[in-house]
Amino acid sequence: MAMTVVTGSASGIGAATFSALAASGREVVGVDLRDAEILADLSTPEGRQAAVDTVLARSSGVLDGLVLCAGLGPQVSDAKRIVAVNYFGTVSLLDGLLPALRGGEAPAAVAVSSVSSTQITWADNPIAGLDESEVEAALEVGGDYRGQLAYAASKNALTVAVRQRAGDWGAAGVRLNTVAPGAVDTPLLQAGLDDPRYGEAIRSFVGPLGRRGRPEEIASLICYLLGPAAGFVHGAQFVIDGGVDAQFRPTAF
Ligand code: NAD
Repeated sequence: MAMTVVTGSASGIGAATFSALAASGREVVGVDLRDAEILADLSTPEGRQAAVDTVLARSSGVLDGLVLCAGLGPQVSDAKRIVAVNYFGTVSLLDGLLPALRGGEAPAAVAVSSVSSTQITWADNPIAGLDESEVEAALEVGGDYRGQLAYAASKNALTVAVRQRAGDWGAAGVRLNTVAPGAVDTPLLQAGLDDPRYGEAIRSFVGPLGRRGRPEEIASLICYLLGPAAGFVHGAQFVIDGGVDAQFRPTAF
């Protein structure tokens, strides 16, 4: 079996996914800013290219799986960096590693989006179709809440980017899906809870199941989507949020 790559493997959902995939017998390689087999900064074009080059060298150009978890939350003060990691960093690795996935055995990729991807529409997404150099100015409309706007916009753009690739990736024999978690107990969520602008809203973001998710619960959905039981699942977004989306938007799906 060839290699499976997990970005954001040092913490939270990425760490839980790394562990679950390794426990299932896969050879897993992590990409992160720290505590990973491959150290790379996915917020910059140079860091993304270095990550792709290092993965290709280490895998001899063949991958069975790719999981893109690296991300920043809305509380991060540099809003353009949120978009740089969540959107441009993720899409660069998808595109850069598709050739390696083509050569894999029953290859599949999963990108971690968010239920926040549904908070704005593509038509209202201020970064839709923009070049990375134009993002900072486009986010100014968010004012003091530009971090939240950057987060929702980056996740909306990521989900759209995955859906837009369904045709080419399917023709290439590589399945590609997104998962869209609600609130999951990780360091990213804790940083949001600790932020006076966002803490209260996150605390109230609890649905019918009455609790937040655990990273292992998101990892188990990702493992399913990478594996043979999901052989006909492609181009889809899976909301995993304890029922919040159904409760607040029962007619929108
Ligand atoms: P986390 O902070 O625990 O883990 C994120 C990881 O991404 C960290 O290890 C971090 O070092 C890495 N990372 C950040 N910037 C990077 C960069 N420039 N280059 C390389 N790696 C970088 O967060 P998490 O909650 O596990 O989040 C994982 C994914 O899940 C993110 O994309 C996040 O947006 C998404 N998500 C999380 C929640 C939640 O409630 N926790 C909800 C919806 C979606």
